[in-house]
Amino acid sequence: NSIDAGASEIRIELEEGGRKKLTVLDDGFGIAGDEMLTALERHATSKITELDDLWNLSTMGFRGEALPSIAAVSRFTLESRTSDELGRAVYLEGGRILRDERLPAQSAVRAHGTAITVEDLFFNVPARLKFQKSRSGESGHIRELLERIALCNPAIGFQLISEGRKSLTLSKNQSIQERVAKILDIKESEIEETESQFEHITVKAWLDRNGRAPNSRHVFLSVNGRMVRDKLLQQAVLIGLRARMMEGEYPRIFVAVEVPPGEVDVNVHPAKSEVRFQRARDVFQVVHGALDRLEKKPTQAFYSPSIEGLSETSDAGPAAPAQEIAPQRQALPQ
Ligand code: ADP
Ligand code: MG
Repeated sequence: NSIDAGASEIRIELEEGGRKKLTVLDDGFGIAGDEMLTALERHATSKITELDDLWNLSTMGFRGEALPSIAAVSRFTLESRTSDELGRAVYLEGGRILRDERLPAQSAVRAHGTAITVEDLFFNVPARLKFQKSRSGESGHIRELLERIALCNPAIGFQLISEGRKSLTLSKNQSIQERVAKILDIKESEIEETESQFEHITVKAWLDRNGRAPNSRHVFLSVNGRMVRDKLLQQAVLIGLRARMMEGEYPRIFVAVEVPPGEVDVNVHPAKSEVRFQRARDVFQVVHGALDRLEKKPTQAFYSPSIEGLSETSDAGPAAPAQEIAPQRQALPQ
């Protein structure tokens, strides 16, 4: 929501991994005083004004459910201010409004922006409380999510403060290379960059040249500027880089896919972590093409030219070639 509101800096503060308290503060355009209660209503969104918007939606979410759902199961404070108002603060418990007042002078919200504070999540739903992960588990998840969001938005500054300590600081207006280096914790000179394009499908990728990981934690994928965890894409990435990886190794990489918004359905999955492409095969091939280009660089001694068959297998679906080419893996990491 902060990103949708045009924020240039976003700060997240956690207490007990967010279970005790979680605050998201932004310097976005804020919510007008007379819209604050609407924002807290179920299915209320300011992000769709015309039917066409449904097909061209580029915001992070538009179902209008997040605020009321969270407010219903927590002690919830919404403070917001637009640039031409004094601001408003609403406090709810279990979804009931207990206070509704002028934005207090000591609020962290400045000239314009929004602060949402969630305290005692699930305090009124004891059954759900039990399913909460440990403090470190929850803050790990939040950090991972934040890294994904931050990669897609290098111009936005992010700060994660956990138990009073700075856990992640990303300054605003970073180049994508700076942002990738920061998230992967490497030098910019350690990044290999590549790009490929085909009929309005564009794939850019930034790879940690020498990075190997035991899991896919650092395989970052985005589609049209939002992070996804799509299996097809991940598969395309792993196959594209198979020549560099040993069995069980994963790359550290950020792959950004751009397709015309009407060609991708991002709402297949409630958490928007899966996507459905109209031209899945083409997307797969462009991803592969981008990574293949890295392999073809002269410094790469062990290029394995085995993906050409992909374009000929017409109806097997994109996952099939994986099996086909797997036995040909022969390369070693340099
Ligand atoms: P959605 O994001 O799907 O519209 P939410 O429940 O997350 O639904 O938010 C409801 C509405 O509240 C948004 O459409 C937006 O108008 C407003 N809103 C929420 N958070 C912010 C924010 N940080 N800055 C500005 N407006 C916000
Ligand atoms: Mg939202």
